[in-house]
Amino acid sequence: MKQMRVLVTGGAGYIGSHTVRLLLESGHQVWAIDNLSTGHRQSLPDECLLVGDLRDESRLDHLLVVHQIEAIVHFAASALVPESVRNPALYYRNNVIASLVLLEQMRRHGIKKLVFSSTCATYGLPDRVPIDEETPQRPINPYGNTKLAVERAILDHAAAYSWGVALLRYFNAAGAHRSGDIGEDHTPESHLIPIVLQAVLGQRPHVQIYGTDYPTPDGTCVRDYVHVEDLAQAHVLALERLSENQPIVCNLGTGQGHSVREVIQTAERITGQSVPVVEAARRPGDPPFLVAQADRARQLLGWQPEFPDLESIVSSAWNWHRRHPRGYHE
Ligand code: UDP
Repeated sequence: MKQMRVLVTGGAGYIGSHTVRLLLESGHQVWAIDNLSTGHRQSLPDECLLVGDLRDESRLDHLLVVHQIEAIVHFAASALVPESVRNPALYYRNNVIASLVLLEQMRRHGIKKLVFSSTCATYGLPDRVPIDEETPQRPINPYGNTKLAVERAILDHAAAYSWGVALLRYFNAAGAHRSGDIGEDHTPESHLIPIVLQAVLGQRPHVQIYGTDYPTPDGTCVRDYVHVEDLAQAHVLALERLSENQPIVCNLGTGQGHSVREVIQTAERITGQSVPVVEAARRPGDPPFLVAQADRARQLLGWQPEFPDLESIVSSAWNWHRRHPRGYHE
């Protein structure tokens, strides 16, 4: 396999930092650009980090030349649905405009390899589940709209300029690195698994279950949780398989759905503690059931998730949260 000089945008973020680590372990030369608005300096080796904003075009231009970048893995984005509803301008700026700057710089420098972090939020409310890659993309919030806009821009650039690109649409990223030294740390936290584990650690009085009257087996929302190390693996595999003849478009999920109640019960089993819950109203915009048809990534990329079951996902998250109860802030 050819070693590449890779720029990871948003490399100090949750999935970015796990991918940087795996790219380094796979022998690539890696730099991460991150404005540290939500990323963490401590989540990656000092020598990899380039602090900066993608929209700073002259800086990006300089970095691409100085480090002779050959490929990009593009994570940098704002990624919270409710925030995107309140502040779409931020999402169009951070997700669409920043990505267009990146694409333009790739074009100017003749960089033809790109792996893009996309999302199942581009499907919106799917007509059928599990969701395959041919499911019509009809996002229902600004976050999904911006990610879909960038997907389209990338495909158009790839076709016109003969780039090799991959669009990886992930379901619910979860878990933490097996070492226990990098993991999920958002402020404020909005994701289910960290919230449940914060309740176990006594940092929250309870977990609110957003909706118990959904048309699902136990009335709570069902999601496809996929381990962050497995996501990182898929990015590395995609990078190594890019072809200018055909874009790679893949869902990344396990194909298994788990309800909110199941996640809470799994956390109780793993931690040996009970989690106080409060049944609350539905959270606006939450689809009841999102599960991937996940075969294509296995076939196209040879992707084999190492942590496909909820137990190992929650265990790894617990290992991180227990050791770093304040995340990176200690
Ligand atoms: N959820 C919940 N309580 C919380 C956080 C999340 O019941 O405090 C539910 C949420 O409604 C969704 C699922 O857990 O059905 C996963 O939510 P998360 O925010 O982790 O990911 P999303 O599916 O929104 O990307």
